[in-house]
Amino acid sequence: MITAKFTSACSKCGCTNKKGSSIYYWPSDRKAYCEKCGEVPYSQFRSAAADEDMMNGNGPCAY
Ligand SMILES: [Zn+2]
Repeated sequence: MITAKFTSACSKCGCTNKKGSSIYYWPSDRKAYCEKCGEVPYSQFRSAAADEDMMNGNGPCAY
């Protein structure tokens, strides 16, 4: 979860993520989700990333 540096549209519902608001952003696919839409995939992403970290032996900050 990051603070939006620019105004963008949620990749899921299309609502506006205003600059300065809290959004979920995936650098890997350059998608931004609003707070509401980001919660579910974010928790999935975290568990998936944790699994990959276990497999690869990388820390949580290694992307
Ligand atoms: Zn949304």
